[in-house]
Amino acid sequence: MMPDERPPEPEPFADDLVVAFTEGDHEDGNALAGPLSEIFAVDVTTAVGRCAGCGTDGPIAQLHVYGPGPGLVARCPHCRQVVLRLVRGADAAWLDLRGAVSLRISVGE
Ligand SMILES: [Zn+2]
Repeated sequence: MMPDERPPEPEPFADDLVVAFTEGDHEDGNALAGPLSEIFAVDVTTAVGRCAGCGTDGPIAQLHVYGPGPGLVARCPHCRQVVLRLVRGADAAWLDLRGAVSLRISVGE
């Protein structure tokens, strides 16, 4: 590599990044409360998400969260599929929800 060459920007949701979070201890979905509060005006950890892998409905707070660096990966406690990924950069956050069919978010009447 030439001295003035910079490495390419990392892909926030590269597959090898996900694999890194497959092993080891995890926290529950409440670990997402702070990071997601930057993005959403409501507490999303109380929302009920439907897993795209097994169809189970459950609170985001019950997901198994791996991280924190370089991002958070939340897996379904039933089938282990990735439901949510969150990568926080210097001036932006990437939120990948492809593993969730839907989110039921309680709002005021
Ligand atoms: Zn599942």
